[in-house]
Amino acid sequence: MTIFRSARLTLTAWYLLIIMLVSLSFSAVIYAMLNREVERFSRIQRTQIERRLRSNESIPRNFPPGGTSIILMDPDLIRETSRRILLMLAAINGTIFILAGGLGYVLAGRTLQPIADMVDEQNRFIQDSSHELRTPLTSLKSALEVNLRDKHLNLEDAKTVMRENVIEVNKLQSLSDSLLALAQYQKPKGNLPHEMVSLTQVMLQAVHTIQPQASVKKITVVNQVKNYTIKGSKESLAELFVILLDNAIKYSPSKSSIYIRTKKIDHAIDISIRDEGIGITPENLEHIFDRFYRADNARSSNNASGYGLGLSIARTIAANHNGTIKVVSEVKKGSTFTVRMPIIFS
Ligand code: ADP
Repeated sequence: MTIFRSARLTLTAWYLLIIMLVSLSFSAVIYAMLNREVERFSRIQRTQIERRLRSNESIPRNFPPGGTSIILMDPDLIRETSRRILLMLAAINGTIFILAGGLGYVLAGRTLQPIADMVDEQNRFIQDSSHELRTPLTSLKSALEVNLRDKHLNLEDAKTVMRENVIEVNKLQSLSDSLLALAQYQKPKGNLPHEMVSLTQVMLQAVHTIQPQASVKKITVVNQVKNYTIKGSKESLAELFVILLDNAIKYSPSKSSIYIRTKKIDHAIDISIRDEGIGITPENLEHIFDRFYRADNARSSNNASGYGLGLSIARTIAANHNGTIKVVSEVKKGSTFTVRMPIIFS
């Protein structure tokens, strides 16, 4: 917050400096020009009257009586005029200073706000991530320490401990991979390659990736996707569908089915993934796209491993493609996740 304030003040000072430099330069030029005009005017009048006097023309009625050297404009009057001009310019510059200062402060705030939001978001991301990493790391560390202190630990016990630790390390690895993916996709949109992608090809790739998990649970994946062309990154779109299919498998009972369908609406295409799984309660529905959010039933009853990052990544990928993800779900009946993407060709 203090960095934001000081950056805002610095930016305001720069805005003010630039505006005041321009304003003061203009004022100096205006002042010099007006002074020159006053002098020129007085000189012209003096020449005209001297010429009239020489040719004995009548002198204007309001002309003051005097000798041959007639001064038309009083030097005091000229000095007074120039002082008044100076005062007026100073007042104008003062007003500009106050207005530009206030406006500059507001504009600096507006300019810096997205950066401040991004820094806040990054800090929250780092805090959430370190919090999630700390728990498995602590349990790993204490398990190792306890076993190291055990004087009677034989080779077989040591191997068991190591096997358990490898499982924990694998989980940590997948967590760090997910964190990296999320950070990667949260970069500005320009970083994504935008190629023409065939929806059927991407979906085949995604189904192929999750097929082993589906086979373990004897789940049938019914792929009824029609071919449309989407503009985007093939890899990230495949990752988006893998996340949704992976969840559908994780939160579904054995021997159930998953249906993948497409439906065209105007210039967009709805790709829906429907499962016959545990479903999501209305309270959880509001939060499942939040980072690190896991519904309690997912943690306990289903024993499905995950850190609650999948849907966050999926939503970021969809947003990077100008798409959206929506979900409808009924507890114990199943869930349907629908990705809406703009299409190029159908
Ligand atoms: P996780 O790694 O826990 O699966 P996700 O971000 O992918 O993380 O999902 C967040 C939560 O949303 C899950 O913990 C689960 O409770 C719920 N969820 C996601 N997909 C489904 C689904 N197909 N059926 C039921 N619950 C789901």
